[in-house]
Amino acid sequence: MTFAPATEQGTGTIRDIVIVGGGTAGWMTAALLIHILGPGGHRVQLLESEEIGTVGVGEATIPPIGIFNRALGLDEDDFLRQTQGTIKLAIEFVDWLRPGHRYLHSFGAFGRPLGLGHFQDFWLRAHRLGMADDWEPYILNSVAARRGRFVRPDPRRQSPLEPLAHAFHIDAGLYARYLRQFAEKRGVRRREGKIVRTVLRAHDGFVDAVEMADGTRVRGDLFIDCSGFRGLLIEQALNTGFEDWSHWLPCDRAWAVPCASAGGFTPYTRSTARPAGWQWRIPLQHRLGNGYVYSSRHVSDDEAAATLMANLDGEALAEPRQLRFTAGRRRKFWNRNVVAIGLAGGFMEPLESTSIHLVQSAISRLITLLPNHGVDPAMAEEFNRASALEYERIRDFIILHYAATERADSPFWRECRDRPIPEELTRRIRVFQALGRVSRDLDELFSEVSWLHVFLGQGIWPRDHHPLADQLSAEDLRRFLEDMKMAVAREVDAMPTHADFIARHCRADSLTDSLKGTA
Ligand code: FAD
Repeated sequence: MTFAPATEQGTGTIRDIVIVGGGTAGWMTAALLIHILGPGGHRVQLLESEEIGTVGVGEATIPPIGIFNRALGLDEDDFLRQTQGTIKLAIEFVDWLRPGHRYLHSFGAFGRPLGLGHFQDFWLRAHRLGMADDWEPYILNSVAARRGRFVRPDPRRQSPLEPLAHAFHIDAGLYARYLRQFAEKRGVRRREGKIVRTVLRAHDGFVDAVEMADGTRVRGDLFIDCSGFRGLLIEQALNTGFEDWSHWLPCDRAWAVPCASAGGFTPYTRSTARPAGWQWRIPLQHRLGNGYVYSSRHVSDDEAAATLMANLDGEALAEPRQLRFTAGRRRKFWNRNVVAIGLAGGFMEPLESTSIHLVQSAISRLITLLPNHGVDPAMAEEFNRASALEYERIRDFIILHYAATERADSPFWRECRDRPIPEELTRRIRVFQALGRVSRDLDELFSEVSWLHVFLGQGIWPRDHHPLADQLSAEDLRRFLEDMKMAVAREVDAMPTHADFIARHCRADSLTDSLKGTA
């Protein structure tokens, strides 16, 4: 069998890359592209409109952001200082299973394996024997989070435990500004102004140029649509279509408001279930970020805003701001010579802080498949296949939190509990219920540990434990768990508090004043 080469579309050399939008997605894309491609062969331009502005929320991240920052060569302390950032070790879910219940979805290792047995095998058996109740005392990230401690991993340290895994809480607007400085210094050209028209090539429907309000035409070989929910190129110009997931994820609005922080900052995000959705609480150095993500079918805007404002830790620092969205994704993330990244590509509520990560993984996928001469449809198809799968796996993980609830105290939660879920998620739940094994693809975002925390935290328990855990006598099992708990406690005892860590390494006080002057 022979394979004819796929028809190449747009045969010119791809050198002019135009990024449309200067939110977090736009500047992350600009920074990594210019860093990887260098100023030599490609011209990277970014267009943004101050009048339109950015979404301006998005403050919790997950650990892979460290890889992105390291790829750019950013110093972590400087990054935290510039973004008013704090450390995130976990997400606390409050009242999700039932009112009064709380659990942590922590990053990092789930205990320590013994031989070939996973820690959860031993813990599950001990739990059945009445020797262990909660799993949190055995998880380094969980204990450090609860006790408000943090230390950076130190390769010289001798310990039987894996070090803490961490992400950050950041002001995403400041992060975009930080990356803008980085990208402009390396040659990205920024143009301010509103795009009023997209010019398509007659023969193949590719985007040839965008036209700014002042009449300037900016042409490009490849366009990256980072224009946010509106999808200026991918949707408004190319009519790509949207796969709507609101039948699975019905929350469609959020109120967001910053407030003063009362006391120290916890090294974790908190998500508290509310009658028609959930409320986030994200501690930054200078304030707390808060928001109520809700379903407009189940609560009025006024009532949702009132619920949010009644549940702040400190005085509100601004009027609440409303955001509207639909869960789902573009039918194609890459269509012709347009690649949609960020909110232009799709949106899932920030329950597991995945949007900024989806930006990061889309950029690295684009760099891997970056065309040289023309756009080969096979590359676009591969980009779309991998992106769709990534979105779907994250979607199912988010749905799990809603579906596995015992709450029946409001129509919203009753619907969440009773609504059908994707078949793939049902399959995964069944595998876990059988023997505590997590079924997942090797390259998907959420690790076995993440699934474990959320399964157990949401009350999905295995019927049996793995036979490897039976190799220990009951006495040895008790000792193993006791030693483990003590080792975790000892490590955490030796850590500074999160507040001390920030004060010593990356306090942003002086920066706050300087930024005020430039805002
Ligand atoms: P935007 O911020 O909307 O930027 C769009 C850009 O396009 C702007 O610069 C705008 O000026 C420009 N633009 C648009 N139209 C034009 C035009 N005609 N001409 C010129 N320029 C134009 N993510 C997380 O990872 N963690 C979180 O905790 C989190 N929380 C969130 C909470 C809510 C309620 C929402 C809605 C989102 C949250 N996100 C979170 C997502 C996060 O905010 C976004 O993924 C991130 O900010 C990227 O946004 P963006 O750059 O794609 O779009």
